[in-house]
Amino acid sequence: MSPRRRPLVRRLALLGIGLIGSSVARAARRAKLAGEIVCYSRRAETRKSALKLGVVDRAYADPAEAVDGADMVVLCVHLGAYLEVGRRMAPALAKGAIVTDVGSTKQSVIRDLKPLLPKGVHLVPGHPVAGTEHSGPAAGFAELFDNRWCILTPAAKTAKPAVNKVTQLWRGMGAHVQVMDARHHDLVLAITSHLPHLIAYNIVGTAADLEQVTKSEVIKYSAGGFRDFTRIAASDPVFWRDVFLNNKDAVLEVLGRFTEDLHALQRAIRWSDGQSLESLFTRTRAIRRGIIQAGQETAAPDFGRLAAASKR
Ligand code: NAP
Repeated sequence: MSPRRRPLVRRLALLGIGLIGSSVARAARRAKLAGEIVCYSRRAETRKSALKLGVVDRAYADPAEAVDGADMVVLCVHLGAYLEVGRRMAPALAKGAIVTDVGSTKQSVIRDLKPLLPKGVHLVPGHPVAGTEHSGPAAGFAELFDNRWCILTPAAKTAKPAVNKVTQLWRGMGAHVQVMDARHHDLVLAITSHLPHLIAYNIVGTAADLEQVTKSEVIKYSAGGFRDFTRIAASDPVFWRDVFLNNKDAVLEVLGRFTEDLHALQRAIRWSDGQSLESLFTRTRAIRRGIIQAGQETAAPDFGRLAAASKR
């Protein structure tokens, strides 16, 4: 009989056990990456739910208790809670422990966490580029990170073995890993994720205001395109508030570019410049095809939602 392999992580502490935290727990379990998985969550209801779902071995109301003896800690709380949770966990971190996270912005995470961590604790910030518009531990699933990217943004002087261990964790959970500078991450995500959410929130807000004029026709004819924005605009309000508050500079930069391009489109429509419109729409169609070819989306009808739902 072959000897049992030691898991990658002895004790994995997840601080926050919502959609992403519970997906990490499930994916780590699936690949037997951790000897034990414990969590912290603020509300008793969330802790109870995580235990009932069986995604963690123990759940604590105090971050310090959760990280006690953990060799890997993953912050999975909303960005606005990093400072408080960081302050509470820091004194209990073991020497040599690795602290990583899943937050959607990276410069703010380094700003909030770095000064709090004791000497000998390694910080390897991370961001899995995967998610849904749902929240809470019941919304998580083990396949969430399969074939998705996880971006790590360690400082240049971070110990390589710590970066390697976090890389192995994400690869074990099915993701591809890319290492990137935190500032670059925030700019890339501002255009690929944050701005699309802002546009969706804005268009759904505008339509809701117009609804009084159109008398329910927005809902009735929503399949014309509006419906797809409402999926994004149904995302958690607190989570997205925190993203915009923590990635101000990059979002304002891409918003400036977006506004200029929108004005150009406005002008093209006003002056019946069909050539400009057609040339942009042809370019954007090619981008969509590129995303499908890269395996980051499906060409299936209904945007593959039915296929994704049946996997759960
Ligand atoms: P979620 O399902 O709403 O879960 C949030 C978790 O954070 C819960 O455990 C919640 O605890 C805790 N929390 C919230 N506010 C807190 C506070 N003020 N103090 C202490 N704990 C607090 O959220 P999620 O979607 O998993 O997002 C978690 C992190 O993942 C965020 O940093 C986000 O940027 C990142 N992320 C999200 C997505 C996505 O699509 N959702 C994708 C990639 C990365 P209680 O339930 O006990 O209150």
